[in-house]
Amino acid sequence: MKRTFVTKDQLVDIAGRYPTPFHLYDEAGIRANMEAVREAFSWNTGFREYFAVKANPNPALISILREYGCGCDCSSSTELMIARALNVPGPEIMFSSNDTPAADFRLARELDAIVNFDDISHIPFFERVAGPIPETVSCRFNPGGLFRLANDIMDNPGDSKYGMTEEQLFEAFRMLRERGAKTFGIHAFLASNTVTNDYYPALARILFELAVRLQRETGAHVGFVNLSGGVGIPYRPDEPANDIRAIGEGVRRAFEEILVPAGMGNVAIFTEMGRFMLGPYGCVVTRAIHEKRIYKDYIGVDACSADLMRPAMYGAYHHITVMGQADGPDKSQEAATRTYDVTGGLCENNDKFAIDRKLPEIEIGDLLIIHDTGAHGHSMGYNYNGRLRSAEVLLRTDGSTELIRRAETPADYFATLDVLPQGRALLEHVAIHETDETD
Ligand SMILES: *Cc1c(COP(=O)(O)O)cnc(C)c1O
Repeated sequence: MKRTFVTKDQLVDIAGRYPTPFHLYDEAGIRANMEAVREAFSWNTGFREYFAVKANPNPALISILREYGCGCDCSSSTELMIARALNVPGPEIMFSSNDTPAADFRLARELDAIVNFDDISHIPFFERVAGPIPETVSCRFNPGGLFRLANDIMDNPGDSKYGMTEEQLFEAFRMLRERGAKTFGIHAFLASNTVTNDYYPALARILFELAVRLQRETGAHVGFVNLSGGVGIPYRPDEPANDIRAIGEGVRRAFEEILVPAGMGNVAIFTEMGRFMLGPYGCVVTRAIHEKRIYKDYIGVDACSADLMRPAMYGAYHHITVMGQADGPDKSQEAATRTYDVTGGLCENNDKFAIDRKLPEIEIGDLLIIHDTGAHGHSMGYNYNGRLRSAEVLLRTDGSTELIRRAETPADYFATLDVLPQGRALLEHVAIHETDETD
């Protein structure tokens, strides 16, 4: 069974104060996990987690991670602006972009972020549009082929757009060195959402061996190895969770075997985890608003894939717990006696949070929790069908709650039409309407 981080009574109380749907985050869970991550890599003095901002760009949540020394991994200029607004110093910003616009490189340079070059052609491009090559740089590696762990195919780097070939990587190090770079890093992201303790250690072996050869053959000083993201979480209730201590220990063994004997025992380990840092510590809180019986039984909820796109986009599984409502029983403890499709209201048949899911009997008004939406949840939201993205609420360690992002309003949705007279009329109209509603 999957644990919820709120009780039914707590949830009923919270949903009485914030209209559903909303994303709810668990500060206590975020902090406990963060401490485990820090502990797992404490053997490496230079260790830093650069939180992947795309997974959840909410400044209130990033600020919690910052308390533990997390940096920010950004991939666009707006993500860089978030890091700037949080006063993150340059060396604590990793700019891991691809297909990068000139303006983004310029902002990265201005902020003194560590630029992780995705391609060798980006080196002259950067010089032309952003200025001199910084002293600390990084290059992204793509080994090509299939990435395997034991006999399992984990992913297909040969088919991915990211990173440089090995030959290009050596050439890029030489080019950057000639242009004044002094400290080098290497980075690779070879598999996503890995639910195994072996991914980081296997990746570390590949990158450590490469780092030794790069330093020997190009004379460049390798200062850090960036294991990037990809550490997964168990979305299904029967999957075992990764053990970050075992992962850290696996990386340490590879470090002792490969880097230390090569005289590179001072290399810093960087990570760019997103999903693992926040995924399990967020959920979507939504309410059943319709029940429909045709060829199958449908429960319509007030959230839709504008709030959480992963099921529609990837067919991803997200566990659902039926909590119930104010005067009813705590359904989180009830047996699954029904089979439902749980749907949102988009005019898209893939707008389903669950298909043929065994759940307890659901009544209109019941609160449902959609689990593990803390990463790549709200941030992937969109406005199709004119749907408005939901609010984000933080459940503090002391049990209080804080609104950390309000829900979008029609005025937000129409804001960019202000270039049209009809758009300005729409905006005036919704402004009047909103005044009416608060009366
Ligand atoms: C998406 C991404 C991450 C985070 O990945 P998770 O699977 O969420 O850990 C880290 N680094 C880069 C460059 C990414 O694109």
